[in-house]
Amino acid sequence: MKKKIVDAMRYMDEKGLNHGRSGNVSIRVDRERVLITPSGVVKSELKPEDIVLINMNGEVLEGIRKPTVEVNLHLEIYRAYDYFNAVVHAHPVYSSVLAVLREPLPPVIEEMVLYTGGEIRVAEYAPFGTIELARNAVEALRDRSAVILANHGVVACGRNLDEALEILELVERVAQIYILARATGLKYYTVPLDSLEKIREIYRSKFKS
Ligand SMILES: [Zn+2]
Repeated sequence: MKKKIVDAMRYMDEKGLNHGRSGNVSIRVDRERVLITPSGVVKSELKPEDIVLINMNGEVLEGIRKPTVEVNLHLEIYRAYDYFNAVVHAHPVYSSVLAVLREPLPPVIEEMVLYTGGEIRVAEYAPFGTIELARNAVEALRDRSAVILANHGVVACGRNLDEALEILELVERVAQIYILARATGLKYYTVPLDSLEKIREIYRSKFKS
C-alpha cells in the first residue's frame, strides 16, 4: 500500500497534475488506521518508508516523518463518508483556475457525472491545513467524489486509490474542456437535467453495497 501511494505521487508529478512538495495522498487501511504522505518532502522523490501510518486522531503509529499538513482534510473526509477509502489532493492548473475564480465545475461532460455525481462545488475558503478547510471540504463533497478548494486546489476521493486518481485526472480534464469552452465566448450547455438524474443514479448505486 505504501508503494501504491509513492507510485501515485510520482504519476501525478509526471502527468503535470501536481508539482514539487505540494499535494498529498492517503489510503484508509481499516476503521482505525490511515496511510498518508509526509509533510515537506518532494513528492516525486518519496520512498515507501516515508509514508506514515496514523490513527483516526492523526497520531503517528508507524514512520519517521510527520504526516502532511492536510491530515485533517483526509481524516474528516473518512469520518464523514464511510464509502471512501482513498483521498487524493493536488494543485493541477485548470482545476486551480476554477479555485481562483471560485467557480464550480458544472456537469458539462456525461462521463464526469458518472464518476463525480455532478457539479463539482467550491468549498468555502479557509487557510490550508486548518480544520475549517477540512470541514468546508466535507460539506461541499455531499453526494460528490470531488471538491474544489477556494484559492488552493482540488480533492478527489474513491473507493480505492486507483479510482481516486482516475477521478482527479477526469476533473482536471473536464475543467480544461470547460475553461476552453467558456473562452470561445459562445453559449455552452450542461448535460440535460433528465439525463443528469439517470447518470447520477448510476453514480449513487456504486456506493450501495
Ligand atoms: Zn494543497
